[in-house]
Amino acid sequence: CIILAIETSCDETSVAIVRDGREVLSNMVSSQIDVHRRFGGVVPEIASRKHVETITVMLEQAVDEAGIRMSDVDAIAVTQGPGLVGSLLVGIVAAKALAMALDIPLIGTHHIAGHIYANQLTEQLVYPCMALVVSGGHTELVHIESEGQFRVIGKTRDDAVGEAYDKVARAVGFPYPGGPHIDRLAGEADDVTELPRAWLDSDSYDFSFSGLKSAVLNALNQAKMRGELSIHAAVARGFQESVIDVLTGKAMRAVQEYKVKQLLLCGGVAANRGLRAALSECCKAEGVPLLVPPFEYCSDNAAMIGAAAYLKWKSGQFTSLDFTAEPQFSLEGWSTDK
Ligand code: ATP
Ligand code: MG
Ligand code: FE
Repeated sequence: CIILAIETSCDETSVAIVRDGREVLSNMVSSQIDVHRRFGGVVPEIASRKHVETITVMLEQAVDEAGIRMSDVDAIAVTQGPGLVGSLLVGIVAAKALAMALDIPLIGTHHIAGHIYANQLTEQLVYPCMALVVSGGHTELVHIESEGQFRVIGKTRDDAVGEAYDKVARAVGFPYPGGPHIDRLAGEADDVTELPRAWLDSDSYDFSFSGLKSAVLNALNQAKMRGELSIHAAVARGFQESVIDVLTGKAMRAVQEYKVKQLLLCGGVAANRGLRAALSECCKAEGVPLLVPPFEYCSDNAAMIGAAAYLKWKSGQFTSLDFTAEPQFSLEGWSTDK
């Protein structure tokens, strides 16, 4: 089965051709970061307009690069949500047009299911497994009992991890998106500024990062008033250590409680070196394999949407042509029919 997948939920315009949910024949990604950087974040109106300008070129390139013809495609997959409504709609309109013209099924796909199933592009998932989703808009622990069965056991009550990284980076003076800069700076630090860890209730799998973010801003301000200028690296290190402690602590407790066979790390923050290292050490001690997608499948891309859509293809669950964007799409609700 050859799926043509489209992803336009935020600021990447991406089209991929994926065979049987695993083999990536092409994965074209056009990032708009350069356009949004000067505003310090993604501007929704600009994002939609850029998707409109780029989608046709991405479609042509993905088909060319895969060495197939449009008539070889068996189904069209597209991110239905969550995401920016105007951005999602551009991909959805293109997907509907293609599905109608080619008279093939359409599969509205969940963006976070995509981030999770990005792992399936390079590894075989074994169930039950646990996914730690860390991205620009999400921080969640998802229990996957069997293929396509999602249950969110914990999520952030305020900021997402990536969002916290970007806000801290901005306060330190780095351009958007600042996550990778903080990651690098933390690795170079000689000192550590101790910062709080938000564990919430002892049995909770929820997260909170807004208090930590405020603590970072306070530490920076106080240092500035004292005239200490070389504090940035120590604060970056303290911030990163707090984030990693809480993420690994909760993820490992979930791994034990749910007796899962694998831990899956996914989303843009999965690129974080400190987080990867800490999780891989804990997983080794626990004897549970840690799966992390290759970097190109961590940030937004359409190949992961093709991987997730394949679950619905296998169970014959297609989306009718009159569906629309779901900015607050439910992951649990997207689980495949048993
Ligand atoms: P969502 O998937 O929740 O809709 P998104 O798709 O915008 O959000 P991603 O593209 O998955 O988010 O991830 C982008 C985020 O990852 C940004 O906040 C960025 O700063 C962060 N990020 C990327 N690399 C690193 C890193 N090495 N360390 C920390 N954060 C990072
Ligand atoms: Mg992005
Ligand atoms: Fe994403």
